[in-house]
Amino acid sequence: MRNLTFDNRFIRELPADPETGPRLRQVHGACYSRVMPTPVAAPRLLAWSREVAALLDLEPEDVRSEGFADVFGGNALLEGMEPYAACYGGHQFGNWAGQLGDGRAITLGETINQRGERWELQLKGAGPTPYSRRADGRAVLRSSIREFLCSEAMHHLGVPTTRALCLVGTGEQVMRDMFYDGNPKAEPGAVVCRVAPSFIRFGNFEIFASRGDQELLEKLIDFTIDRDFPELGGGGKERRIRWFREVCERTALMVAHWMRVGFVHGVMNTDNMSILGLTIDYGPYGWVDNFDPGWTPNTTDAAGRRYRFGHQPRIAHWNLAQLANAIYPAIGAAEPLQAALTAYAEVYDVESRRMTADKLGLAQLGEADLAGVNALHSLMVRAEIDMTLFFRRLAELDPATPDAALFANVFYDEDKRRSTAEEFQAWLQTHAAQVRSEGLDPEARRARMNAANPCYVMRNYLAQQAIDAAEAGDLKPVEELLDVMRRPYEEQPGREAYAQKRPDWARQRAGCSMLSCSS
Ligand code: AMP
Ligand code: MG
Ligand code: MG
Repeated sequence: MRNLTFDNRFIRELPADPETGPRLRQVHGACYSRVMPTPVAAPRLLAWSREVAALLDLEPEDVRSEGFADVFGGNALLEGMEPYAACYGGHQFGNWAGQLGDGRAITLGETINQRGERWELQLKGAGPTPYSRRADGRAVLRSSIREFLCSEAMHHLGVPTTRALCLVGTGEQVMRDMFYDGNPKAEPGAVVCRVAPSFIRFGNFEIFASRGDQELLEKLIDFTIDRDFPELGGGGKERRIRWFREVCERTALMVAHWMRVGFVHGVMNTDNMSILGLTIDYGPYGWVDNFDPGWTPNTTDAAGRRYRFGHQPRIAHWNLAQLANAIYPAIGAAEPLQAALTAYAEVYDVESRRMTADKLGLAQLGEADLAGVNALHSLMVRAEIDMTLFFRRLAELDPATPDAALFANVFYDEDKRRSTAEEFQAWLQTHAAQVRSEGLDPEARRARMNAANPCYVMRNYLAQQAIDAAEAGDLKPVEELLDVMRRPYEEQPGREAYAQKRPDWARQRAGCSMLSCSS
């Protein structure tokens, strides 16, 4: 395949672990460890994203050429690739977990495209690293399909995210205990090549702070700003403060988008929080079907529900506070960090109101309107209303004659629909009256709503159906789902099946509603 241009400044400017290779170890005084991907038995290209290939200036012929699956399955390197695994720590489920690091992800290098954009290429599932702890460094096909599809879907939905170039089957089996019943079973393995300007996480800074390594902490902060935040200009500590504020604001925007589209990350540990404000690490994530702020897809989190849908804005704030603690020694003052955390809350509030106004087709969402939104949310929970279908349908409401019949198909439970029917009609009346009083142009209003309310989201059961087919050797459904998700805001004739409520059979099935961390 054609070579790409690499510029590996990360690995040149920052200190490397003197030892190379995958021997398990605590890595001190270094940002990363050089380690090669472990070759796999039979790499085979299973799926790829033409949009990400284009970002990297790769032509379809390059992707289909011999050698592509070897490179992105971890069996060969292109000239200029210098693989490494990053060292980071993190707070997991609220507790400091010490060194984590890339236990199965290996960065290949940073490529510069013709437009001068820099993209880091990283293989997930590429074999053991010094950070693998007791795990195997591999990933199963099912979780790799989920990451591949969802990162591209999120991009097309307008949510800041890491991207995915391709999915390569390894031809090897991986042992996983999906149900934690003590009976691991063999599953097909895969490698995803993910792509982002940087995969640095909050945990990359936390690890040095936790070890009192201020020199390396400051080095990594300044490096990150130089490389990824050049617009922040110069100036020592002031610049670091502007940077943290920017991280807070980007994180707020990202989470506001998650809430807009009904995405639940599921494992918002600080090692899964991107310093660029991108959605990163697609594990047991899920999509809200029936609107429920208390829902989490992560079975590991089922008891505490720390990472439930409605809790995400607060958890992001908590995570930012951990980052603030970590970088404090490099700033030396608490007040500006506190101010940035306050800015997080303010930006989240502004963005979330703006998006909610877009979703409802209101001119804006003032203090007085919040009661109506809360009433709607509470009603949606009690009535078991499908979030995506409801908001999409709302754009069709005629404010002159608001008719509940329009929403006949958005309820999951007939009894609950009946018992809330009056309240539902009353909400519609109030809402319609507000729409009439605002007098916005109907067409412009509808277009704005349809640009905020996706018609298609990557419902868990849709992904699971594509996975079932892929495991049986049929990759068409993965391709088709990826294609549907390319235009999530447009009704696509013939693809109505992708814009339906979660079917009954999917409610309790593993992979369709609840997901374990086993991946
Ligand atoms: P996650 O919960 O996916 O964010 O992963 C937490 C930590 O476990 C990270 O350091 C991962 O690299 C590591 N990890 C997860 N799965 C594996 C695996 N199969 N092999 C090695 N390390 C893993
Ligand atoms: Mg992770
Ligand atoms: Mg993960």
